[in-house]
Amino acid sequence: MLPNLPSTNKKIFTKVNKEIILIHQDSMATMNFNSCNCYLININNKEYAIIDPGCSKRKLYTTLKQNEINFSEIKYFYITHGHSDHIGLIDYLQKKNRGIQGYIHKLDKRFIESSKEYYSMLFDISLLENNKKYKDFIDTIKYYTTPNSTIPIKQSFKMIFDIWNIKNRKISNTFKDGEILPGNLKVIHAPGHTPGMCMLFKENEYLLFSSDIHLSSIGPNFSGNYTNISDFKSSINKIIKFVESGLVKVILSGHGKNPITEKLKNRLLDFYKGIRTKENQLLMLLQEKGNLTLEQITKETFKEYIKRFDKFLHKTKLRDTIVIAEASEMMSNLNILKELERLGKVSKLKRQNEIYWS
Ligand SMILES: [Zn+2]
Repeated sequence: MLPNLPSTNKKIFTKVNKEIILIHQDSMATMNFNSCNCYLININNKEYAIIDPGCSKRKLYTTLKQNEINFSEIKYFYITHGHSDHIGLIDYLQKKNRGIQGYIHKLDKRFIESSKEYYSMLFDISLLENNKKYKDFIDTIKYYTTPNSTIPIKQSFKMIFDIWNIKNRKISNTFKDGEILPGNLKVIHAPGHTPGMCMLFKENEYLLFSSDIHLSSIGPNFSGNYTNISDFKSSINKIIKFVESGLVKVILSGHGKNPITEKLKNRLLDFYKGIRTKENQLLMLLQEKGNLTLEQITKETFKEYIKRFDKFLHKTKLRDTIVIAEASEMMSNLNILKELERLGKVSKLKRQNEIYWS
């Protein structure tokens, strides 16, 4: 029997069933866009696990208080993948309960434990280093990855980097595909978005924590140098098969409105198509406009996304920072197109001049 699932709204948390509490992702309006939906699981009597502690501190605190849960009762945290929006409260949880055990797939562990690894996952640093225009951005990365750095950096860049909140964190344990974690959660390796992304499957309740196969309206997003598009597609197909065979009836994902209980297959197919839509939009842009720099391509492609920030920010500098940051995703899109040989004559991809189509 499926639980009677309430619809999500701007509430702090939603009780999905008697064992699972969803703590909602922060909205853009709070400027904490570096956040995700996180899930508290009652594993037995007074023991809890938390999946992706990436919500705001305030929301976690309020949720625990209102449900009479102590920090000392949270015994485990499970990280579905190593992106900044899924890990923000790791150190807070470790401070509140020194005995807490953290788990992540070994392929993503390095992104959490080393800020250098993190930034080189997201950004093609050697490409950006070759262009004077990105000097401030590269300096900021150096500032944030060099202990006791005194490199002067710009305030607008600092604001964004502070929100990402990347540092060297410690996670003692790794999990692997097929393992059953406390809380009766089966690890399903679902690479693509990142190499070590994993979903967690509560088989007896037909419930899947699907991480960044999130089915929200923004569609699939990539992570710089480490996205593997064909793996991403296979991972989405894996869930479609689960849904088709009746093994999954509820999806609890990392972003957007959750739980997802209706039209699962259609929504998964739409999400899958989102990858192709992005590719096609990019190809059309390149064909229409001819020579474009990486920055121009990014601005054009992320027009809508950037507009969302405009509602809150009127500082051009900050907007530019976001464009540079998103340029890395654009790089991965272009590389993917190259990989799929959809970029026509790949030899025309001239990295050094930042011209991608001529
Ligand atoms: Zn992610």
